[in-house]
Amino acid sequence: EETAAPATEETEAKKETGLSGTVAKHYNDLREGSVFDRARSRIYYQRNFNNWIKSMIIANSLKAVHRKKGCTVLDLCCGKGGDLLKWTKGHIKKLVCADIAAVSVQQCQKRYNDMVERNRRSGNQKTFAAEFISADCAEVLLTERYQEKDMLFDLCSCQFSFHYSFEAAARARTMLRNACERLRPGGYFVGTIPNGYELVSRLKESDGLTFGNEVYKVTFENKETFPLYGCKYDFHLEGVVDCPEFMIYFPLLEEMAKEFDMELVYLKKFQDIYEENCESVDNQALISKMQALEQFPPEKGTGTASKKEDDYSHAETRHT
Ligand code: SAM
Repeated sequence: EETAAPATEETEAKKETGLSGTVAKHYNDLREGSVFDRARSRIYYQRNFNNWIKSMIIANSLKAVHRKKGCTVLDLCCGKGGDLLKWTKGHIKKLVCADIAAVSVQQCQKRYNDMVERNRRSGNQKTFAAEFISADCAEVLLTERYQEKDMLFDLCSCQFSFHYSFEAAARARTMLRNACERLRPGGYFVGTIPNGYELVSRLKESDGLTFGNEVYKVTFENKETFPLYGCKYDFHLEGVVDCPEFMIYFPLLEEMAKEFDMELVYLKKFQDIYEENCESVDNQALISKMQALEQFPPEKGTGTASKKEDDYSHAETRHT
């Protein structure tokens, strides 16, 4: 006879929302790293490099949208607000930040308030308006939560997060609906997700169900079947992530987006984005300021920071 496991907060959460409770708990519990902690971390340069890539993606997307009076942006799965400064630099008009992890949303809001206060005191930069929503964006329709009822966005950015929704078809669709349904015609949805082809190829090359190195590990449940939804793997990245994730088969996402009148503009690897943007003097200065590479320019043939970046790809779709 089976005995039921005692109901913990986590098992209750799983019952209601699959693994999203586990994901939210992981991010809520994540300590805000100090600059010192980050410098000590073995993945220091890799994280900074990823952050520089996001700066390029965001700056280029805002250029593509190009609204003279400033853009309205949805930062879907905003986390602790790591991109707030990028939005300031992009001179946007309004930002809506949404995330499942309530503690992260609070930290994001505090960061924003501190930034507004700093700018007010120095008097040298005008800050955008912002709204903060704590919600499972693969479950809840954000349309019902915006303070501005007829809210329209020029850009939705979903960085390193969309894959969490691929636990189930309905969740992925709701997340996509939230990303796209309030975009103006001509508006863009930009995101970064792990590269599914790369994940499968590394899994197939490995002896068992796990691959990685001393910094990251990925563990799949099997090597033969990769369902379109719910294709779970555990991702561990030193000191940053230890969480279940779901693989995305990109052509499926592209097909799903058509339902929301979106067309694919491009799909690129981080390496492509690096190569396209590393020539400009301003971008090089930012690489140096953000300490995005251990050595710049990188030695010939060594690529950028580490092989891990190839695991990520970035896609941009446009609302037609
Ligand atoms: N976009 C931020 C950035 O680039 O710094 C945070 C990225 S972090 C790797 C992933 C984020 O996705 C976490 O903040 C997590 O809470 C959020 N997330 C995961 N599933 C979500 C969901 N169903 N709804 C909203 N946010 C979600």
